[in-house]
Amino acid sequence: MSKLKDLEDYREEIEQCVKCGACRAHCPVFGSERREGRVARGKVALAQAVLEGEIGFEAKVLEDLSQCLLCGSCCAGCPNKVPTDEIVAAARRRIAEEQGLSTFGKGVAAVLGRPKLMNTLAKTGGKLASLLFKQLPDNSGLRLRFPVPYLEAGRTLPPITDKPFRESCPDRIAGEPGKPTVAFFTGCGINYMYPAVGEAFLKALKFLGVTVIIPKDQACCGLPAVSAGAGRTVEALAEQNYAALTREPVDYILTACASCHAGLVNVYGDMQGECSELSKKTRDIFVFLLEQGLAEKLAELPRAAKRTSVTYHDPCHLRTQGITQEPRAVLKALPQVEYVEMENAGTCCGLGGTYSVYHYANSKKIGAQKAANIDNSGAQMVATDCPGCIMQLQDSINHAGGKQRVVHILELLNEALPD
Ligand code: SF4
Ligand code: SF4
Repeated sequence: MSKLKDLEDYREEIEQCVKCGACRAHCPVFGSERREGRVARGKVALAQAVLEGEIGFEAKVLEDLSQCLLCGSCCAGCPNKVPTDEIVAAARRRIAEEQGLSTFGKGVAAVLGRPKLMNTLAKTGGKLASLLFKQLPDNSGLRLRFPVPYLEAGRTLPPITDKPFRESCPDRIAGEPGKPTVAFFTGCGINYMYPAVGEAFLKALKFLGVTVIIPKDQACCGLPAVSAGAGRTVEALAEQNYAALTREPVDYILTACASCHAGLVNVYGDMQGECSELSKKTRDIFVFLLEQGLAEKLAELPRAAKRTSVTYHDPCHLRTQGITQEPRAVLKALPQVEYVEMENAGTCCGLGGTYSVYHYANSKKIGAQKAANIDNSGAQMVATDCPGCIMQLQDSINHAGGKQRVVHILELLNEALPD
């Protein structure tokens, strides 16, 4: 039996759409394209027409359904809380069942479903980096020298490490008696592209005396496969992660990636069967750190005379879960940081899983607005809580000719904490 819901299971929610159009104000794709088929209302209407048998998945419908970041912004602003992101994801699974996966979707399913292959590809990519990329000044990433399949020339990407984080970190770090025990769900971004964020995560938990287990056989959360419509891959990854994360008893499962948080909490939480149990234990790192008294401990550190001005970008997958204050509270408590708020900090960066692969021109357009907001804030740095957003924001800033570095909040916390 399928663990994920079918499009048919959303019939009731689809019927809740009253066509009020409130979602137009919240949808970044509509904001950039101003076309009805791009907004939640239009996509929900398409899903309804498919369910009623009025239309099939012809080319125009496929195009409109592919024009969604799955950011969930429309759901948060919808009076009836119509879950358009879930409806679009279910429609993409139905398309894959009827027509097969796209070529890119097949690639996503093949790689994510085979962690060993993923490791080998990442290591090979790391070794080929000097051939494919030009190192940008100020360590702000690598720029692709020429187009490769699904990636345009000029795109900024982070270096892929030839030593994935989970291959270099210990299995367990013992904390203090009486403190919680947590499992670290690293996600692919930290494992392959931002291992320094993983190191910073471990340092923060060591500082608070928390015992950390890092299950080495965990897999991708499956969110890229959700975006590609590869339902069976999502289910297989959820099962693998359930086995890895429940082998030892833990109080919490922690993520330092908004997309992984959405995968474990929202996608697994909605699944039939035992995988949904993972959602109840999952916490975002900054929610957990504040619960453990991090802000009070940071307040004891002397405030730096010269501070860096930092602004915060809300990843959609945390903002739509109501996690907006905790990352800001940690940033404001850092002794070397002067926090500044940017305008529209909660607007999507434009990455959207496979969206930026299929619709890079529009993804860049959405990102350009974000880069302008960052520049207008006057901040020297942008911090966030999602490796995918870091990648997209740095690309957008570099295209706009900006100088700001994008970092994970944990990297700034790492600087503040004593060694
Ligand atoms: S805001 Fe919600 S109810 Fe209104 S049109 Fe959009 S999806 Fe439908
Ligand atoms: S999930 Fe995001 S991109 Fe998709 S319709 Fe809603 S607001 Fe627009």
